[in-house]
Amino acid sequence: MANEKDLLDRLEAMSFNRRTFLKSLVAAGFAAEFGGLLPAAAPRTAAAASSAPEAFVTEPSRRIPLLREVDVLVVGGGMAGVSAAVAASRMGMKTLLVEYFGFLGGNATAALVNDFCGFYTRTRKTVQLIGGIGGEVVQELIDGAGGRKWRHVVDFDPEALKVILDKKVLEAGVEPLFYTQFAAPLMDGNAVRGAFIENKAGRQAIRAKVVLDCTGDGDVCAAAGVPFEVGDGKGDMQACDMAFRLGNVDETTFDQGFFFDNADRLMAEAVALGDYKLTRTGGNLGYTFVPGVYWANMARVPWAVDGTKPEHLTRSSVEGRQIAREFARFLRDRIPGLEKSAIVETAAKIGLRETRRVTGEHLLTADEVLGAKKFEDGVVANAWPVEMHIPGQLKRKMMFLKGDEYHTIPFRSLVPKGVEGVLMAGRFISCSHNAQASIRVMGPAAGMGQAVGVAAALAVRAGTAPRKVAAAALRAELKSQGAFIG
Ligand SMILES: Cc1cc2nc3c(=O)[nH]c(=O)nc-3n(C[C@H](O)[C@H](O)[C@H](O)COP(=O)(O)OP(=O)(O)OC[C@H]3O[C@@H](n4cnc5c(N)ncnc54)[C@H](O)[C@@H]3O)c2cc1C
Repeated sequence: MANEKDLLDRLEAMSFNRRTFLKSLVAAGFAAEFGGLLPAAAPRTAAAASSAPEAFVTEPSRRIPLLREVDVLVVGGGMAGVSAAVAASRMGMKTLLVEYFGFLGGNATAALVNDFCGFYTRTRKTVQLIGGIGGEVVQELIDGAGGRKWRHVVDFDPEALKVILDKKVLEAGVEPLFYTQFAAPLMDGNAVRGAFIENKAGRQAIRAKVVLDCTGDGDVCAAAGVPFEVGDGKGDMQACDMAFRLGNVDETTFDQGFFFDNADRLMAEAVALGDYKLTRTGGNLGYTFVPGVYWANMARVPWAVDGTKPEHLTRSSVEGRQIAREFARFLRDRIPGLEKSAIVETAAKIGLRETRRVTGEHLLTADEVLGAKKFEDGVVANAWPVEMHIPGQLKRKMMFLKGDEYHTIPFRSLVPKGVEGVLMAGRFISCSHNAQASIRVMGPAAGMGQAVGVAAALAVRAGTAPRKVAAAALRAELKSQGAFIG
């Protein structure tokens, strides 16, 4: 089995040919052309953006109202956070879920990423790997005509998903608190004992026996002092895209299978001829259940957006909306059935594939992913390929597990190093940059969420630190909840 460096070399060797790559650099001129209204030029890498001098002011200390004391505080209501909160609450924990947006789902709703990957293997058989709470959500979508299993993915209507997730958390007894941002951890030595939050009511505190960081970015762990890397640690990271919904699609002539199988080629041809400034080739046009409306995942921002920097988020959102319009023009001109289509909505949030990766007790590697490694403390089964979207390159790079093989994610990758009282789930867990390209999709996110929710409940019941939860007990409980297949 190759090591991590070999893998990177192999990914590099799979690069698109040089001519196409140069075209992609031309496409990257998008930033200069359309970002001109913003004050500073878009930096190519995160590293290039970090040299501004800093000034400081002193904030006076103040007494903060204590809003709640709970067993489990979940920060972030994406697929990881929802699964974590529901799992903890179902096990009798008083659970509060804090979410920045006014709805749940994270990227699935806010970033309009409207198909679930990683719930099934990618063969014709499509073996289901994510059961438990994530599996329930998928089944409810399908049963309620708000979701459809198509090949190995599940296309869904984000409005249907929002309502299902609201219902799931409320039925489980979770208290949701929306429009609220995690501001800082409430620390006792090296242990997280709750959080300071900010919302329209100002700054408040929440005490919790266990905090579950499900922010996608590792906000809680980073602020608590757990070491982390951003992207590949050298300033590059997975590319981000601005998803959009396309209306007025003629469903009598549009063929999703045709698009899926041919988009790469058609876009590459269009770029080679210089007809369109497309910043990537391929992508997805997924079914949404709204007649004549499809969701589009393709409008790539062609530079390394560091989603922990507000100025990067701002600029990429502005550019992303303009890039989406260029893709819509291509689709209208070149894809049968889309001749009269138009953008009906761009996502509320730029889609971030990768920001921080927080260091935990085990760093999952791409060798372990592709080698289908099973850990003694494995808590989630994953078969999604290593799928790299590199800013400035037109074509994604994929490396697959064989057949229906899967690896597991060890509990230790969800336990942050050196800080107590907090566990993590979702796309920022302890793994290498290449492994992250596999485990980041929403099936494993849901599985990891359930795993940390159960672990938090077991820790509170036993009065122990979450990291001390016995792997055997955790695995047994997850299996009894239908969560872990493997
Ligand atoms: C363009 C793009 C396409 C993708 N395509 C697919 C795909 O087709 N299928 C698939 O399965 N996956 C896909 N992914 C990956 C997937 O969407 C994410 O990796 C996944 O959503 C991770 O789930 P999560 O719960 O860890 O994080 P998120 O979905 O990001 O959820 C995190 C939640 O935490 C909240 N939050 C963050 N910080 C704070 C804070 N400080 N205070 C309060 N709340 C906070 C956020 O608002 C959000 O709701 C794609 C990603 C992108 C960007």
